[in-house]
Amino acid sequence: MASHSADRDRDGRLVLIGGGAKRVLGRVFLVGAGPGDPELLTLKAAKALAAADVVVHDRLVSAEVLAMARTARKIHVGKRKSRHSVPQDGINTLLVALALEGLNVVRLKGGDPFLFGRGGEEMLACREAGVPCEVIPGITAAMAASALAGAPLTHRGLAQSVTFVTAHAASGGEPDLDWSQLAKGNQTLAVYMGVSTAGTVAAKLIAAGRSGSTPVLIVENISLPQERRISTTLSTLVEHVSGLDGPAILIIGEVAALADLIVPTRDNSETVVLGSRA
Ligand code: SAH
Repeated sequence: MASHSADRDRDGRLVLIGGGAKRVLGRVFLVGAGPGDPELLTLKAAKALAAADVVVHDRLVSAEVLAMARTARKIHVGKRKSRHSVPQDGINTLLVALALEGLNVVRLKGGDPFLFGRGGEEMLACREAGVPCEVIPGITAAMAASALAGAPLTHRGLAQSVTFVTAHAASGGEPDLDWSQLAKGNQTLAVYMGVSTAGTVAAKLIAAGRSGSTPVLIVENISLPQERRISTTLSTLVEHVSGLDGPAILIIGEVAALADLIVPTRDNSETVVLGSRA
């Protein structure tokens, strides 16, 4: 793209000038879709969806949120754990190509684009190609779990800090984390992609000094009708993860004990209590 330069047209839109030709450049919006409930989108995200020509989305984006991009073409590049249906390089190339066609592109991602979302790579690819890229933050899974379950991530006397970690590991491998740091008390761990490695995470934390009785809150499908919350401890964590099949986050630390396990159903007519720390 080095032989191109950018200018603006009369409407202030960027125009790519190269080889004597002028083209109106589209724009890429990296949009955080939040945890699933469309009411947890930002107003900016809703506006970007309504104005999009094309939406490039992952598997974790709910159908209700996608429906907000009524007229846009939808391209699913779904990611499921390590099985990416479109490799990251292909997604980067696609975003750039669509913007170079002059389209308004929304790259819609679960939660926040810059937290375990590979949004940084997409932003850099746009920058390198001279394509304008704007980031619209979303409510990340840990914050949604914290708010909806009533387990503050920090709490006076219980947790002075919170660490967001990914426990993703190449198949058969172990997450590469600083266990002695993570095992220190007075802090909360919000563990993403930790269902398949939960047994290892618990064992490593206990071996590094965190008590087996440390409370853990598992929240699956946060904010969606099929949301489930399970309350357990580090030493019994592994017994509770086998039945999970949706995305789930682990909140590890004393704050997890503050969670209210009475889960209101969508119409608030009933409540369901799941799991017990006893
Ligand atoms: N960018 C996303 C994270 C993507 S990594 C964010 O900011 O939330 C995917 C992991 O996020 C999942 O393995 C799970 O740990 C967590 N996650 C995403 N959506 C979730 C949901 N609705 N409920 C529970 N966990 C979720």
